[in-house]
Amino acid sequence: MADFREELLERFLRYVKIYTTSEDDVENIPSTARQFDLAHILENELQSLGLQQVNVSENCYVTAVLPASEGMENHKVLGLIAHMDTAPDYSGENVNPIIHENYDGKDITLGDSGKVISVKDFPELEKLAGRTLITADGTTLLGADDKAGVAEIMTTASYFMKHPEIKHGEIHICFTPDEEVGRGPDKFDVEGFAADYAYTVDGDSEDEVAYENFNAASATIEIDGVNVHPGEAKDIMVNAALIATEIAQSLPASETPANTEDREGFYHLIEMSGDVAHAKLAYILRDHDKDSFANRKVVVENICKKMAASYPTANITCNIRDSYENMLVIMEKHPEIIKLAKDAIQSVGLAPISRPIRGGTDGAQLSFKGLPCPNLGTGGYGFHGPYEHVSLEGMETVVEELIYIGTHPIQ
Ligand SMILES: [Zn+2]
Repeated sequence: MADFREELLERFLRYVKIYTTSEDDVENIPSTARQFDLAHILENELQSLGLQQVNVSENCYVTAVLPASEGMENHKVLGLIAHMDTAPDYSGENVNPIIHENYDGKDITLGDSGKVISVKDFPELEKLAGRTLITADGTTLLGADDKAGVAEIMTTASYFMKHPEIKHGEIHICFTPDEEVGRGPDKFDVEGFAADYAYTVDGDSEDEVAYENFNAASATIEIDGVNVHPGEAKDIMVNAALIATEIAQSLPASETPANTEDREGFYHLIEMSGDVAHAKLAYILRDHDKDSFANRKVVVENICKKMAASYPTANITCNIRDSYENMLVIMEKHPEIIKLAKDAIQSVGLAPISRPIRGGTDGAQLSFKGLPCPNLGTGGYGFHGPYEHVSLEGMETVVEELIYIGTHPIQ
């Protein structure tokens, strides 16, 4: 089948060189205008491939429709989604991809940067021996997250256009901005996209389909103390900074990101500041389990209430806001979407794996907006930094999976 290998590689190498880093704490979507550079390239390519209704929205969402083959019009509409931005955590400018042909499965020195992708840190490297591996040169991230996903979806669309004899259902494509800054779904027009189900192509190994993520909330605790001269403070002073440390100490020490894995939730102190008069604690709360998640919010509230009772002259406020939910509750209602992904992975000779995501995905938010959307792998690893790497064979496998999914649409 693999007559798309060269095209896939060419697309990937070209897309990663386009600077599309997004930015945190920007009101606008897209957060950076440079994301339009890739959006317009994809727009042109989708048009020349012959897709329909190709559009770039004012918020930089690229959409296109691949009509169903004759006789396949009555199936549900499949959506395929990938994001165009790269993480602001590390430079994404002047990416210089390096191709390691017939990779030997050992540590990789990245250009002259002195940085090394080690087998110790990335144990999957051994399994990638013999493949064509692609890395950056150590001065930037690679951007396989998620330009591998973009290249895979583009190559799938191109494959279907070049092979009209291969029957597929209707496919709607969307390339989104600002996934890395958590804004991807914000301006996603779920109704306009008009797909019945979708997959984000934004995970790592090609044998994975993920449909479980954290429930997430943030908690901001503000403390106003009572500040007087320390020499005359007896029975009067209430030190806000000390109350803040007492609150931090009241949460279970073992339930932090550094002490948890798999489906274990946590309280994560992301920021702490304060003096005698005023102190602030900012937490994020995470849990896959709905009840346990609800309980975490109660625990934080109760600690604040207890502190408020102990220090009646202080003012303690606790503001908890939900961020996103575990898509599992949605996916449980649509087992056929997970089954199709697993069938696709099996069709290329792999055993599907599903790990709970210790974070969120755009698909989780889209699922709650009415578009059930698990996450497929891209073949890439080590995202968001200089150690990112992807194998061409992994990417090819993902395209084969997408072709399988496109040709086996849900009824
Ligand atoms: Zn991503």
